[in-house]
Amino acid sequence: MHNPFGIINKINITKPYQHYKHSGTLNLSSIFILLLLGTIGTLILSIIYSYAIHYIPLIALNVICTVFFGYFTGLIIGHSGKISKIRNNTVLIIYGIIFGLFAVYISWVVWLYELFQRQELIFNPVAILNIMQFLSIEGIWSTNSYTPTGFSIYVIWFVEAVIILCTTIYGAATFLKTNVFCEKCNAWVENKYILPNLNYTYNPTKLTNLIQQGQFSAISDLRVQEPASNLYTSVELSKCSKCNDLYLLKVNTIKLILKSNGNVKRDETIIVENMIIDSEIYNSIKTWGEERS
Ligand SMILES: [Zn+2]
Repeated sequence: MHNPFGIINKINITKPYQHYKHSGTLNLSSIFILLLLGTIGTLILSIIYSYAIHYIPLIALNVICTVFFGYFTGLIIGHSGKISKIRNNTVLIIYGIIFGLFAVYISWVVWLYELFQRQELIFNPVAILNIMQFLSIEGIWSTNSYTPTGFSIYVIWFVEAVIILCTTIYGAATFLKTNVFCEKCNAWVENKYILPNLNYTYNPTKLTNLIQQGQFSAISDLRVQEPASNLYTSVELSKCSKCNDLYLLKVNTIKLILKSNGNVKRDETIIVENMIIDSEIYNSIKTWGEERS
């Protein structure tokens, strides 16, 4: 199906192109598997985190540990959600809240266990709160000769808990956002093809409108980028290879910004996200890409 002029257009006036959305379908076994995997994952991470903050003396490193702890807990929930075939964002957010709170609780249980030289594990939340009250009188750590006590240490503990909770929810809620599930085959769509990088567009709205109208030649009009640059357009195709009945298109503009500390920041603008196309458009875009890679 060689097309020397580029990608085919298929303008759909009567029925606009749809975008994939999670169906929201839920079943009991998925909820149970997610609960089980989430519990195991959160327990392991909470233990690692408690020991890390117990033995790392630098406050800045502790804060980084806190952010990563919450975020990784969220990713575990997301991953578990993928394994248990959850395609309902509300459920993942609720699980993010539950496991975020669970992570805070378990990290306190383990941290106190270590603080009291592994004498006993205290699971009763009321007892934990009483110990916290006791610890807040004298303070438990110092930085630059400052020892937070009383109200200030409660603020620190509260901020720590909020960081864990928010990063867990964020990790859980974003993990499956761009994944596609084929309801017909009861499976995640894994077959992906990424085109060579195309030139950057300074008019993303126009490109979005053209693609949504079915003017897919707007993609080939951008042409393959040569030489490579920090600004480009990325095009990704995906399909369900089980039923060959679900085809999707994703287009983003990417800006790679080199920061002063040497890190690269990736700025993405969505042109179209998981737009549902048909096999003819899919093959036309893929063939065009393959001929140019
Ligand atoms: Zn399928």
